[in-house]
Amino acid sequence: MSHRDRHEGISCDSCGKSNFRGRRYKCLLCYDYDLCSACYNFGAVSGRHTTDHAMQCLITRADYDTYFGGEAIPVDMPQSYTCPLCNSCGFTQALLEEHVTSEHAGCGSGEVICPICASTPSTDAEIISEDLATHLIQHSRTSRSDLISTSLLIT
Ligand SMILES: [Zn+2]
Ligand SMILES: [Zn+2]
Ligand SMILES: [Zn+2]
Ligand SMILES: [Zn+2]
Repeated sequence: MSHRDRHEGISCDSCGKSNFRGRRYKCLLCYDYDLCSACYNFGAVSGRHTTDHAMQCLITRADYDTYFGGEAIPVDMPQSYTCPLCNSCGFTQALLEEHVTSEHAGCGSGEVICPICASTPSTDAEIISEDLATHLIQHSRTSRSDLISTSLLIT
């Protein structure tokens, strides 16, 4: 039970605390850069990371279960996504896709980490090399097929 309320296998890149509780902030511009909530609130910086970088807030498995009463729902995480390109936050997956498509399409997003991949426990968030808008459109296709396979499992 105890591991579910911690970020298992994750350590804070500022204070070095590992498997910490509470919110986790993952940088969407630096590969594999995470902060605990205390360091995030403090505005910790190290390496090439600065406070200007967009960060995605991630919740623990236990918090996730609290929202869903333990039901496994692979899509629609109960959290809002942050745009890695302009640091706006509060998007749902659909709104983020719409935002990136209208605001950032074709600008060559460069190397960023997808906030949706970063929020999926089963996915290793890697820096994407393709355009972020293109990548997000693939997500909405994938989640539709996830929905289909989920409903098949229930019936
Ligand atoms: Zn820390
Ligand atoms: Zn960073
Ligand atoms: Zn944006
Ligand atoms: Zn992604």
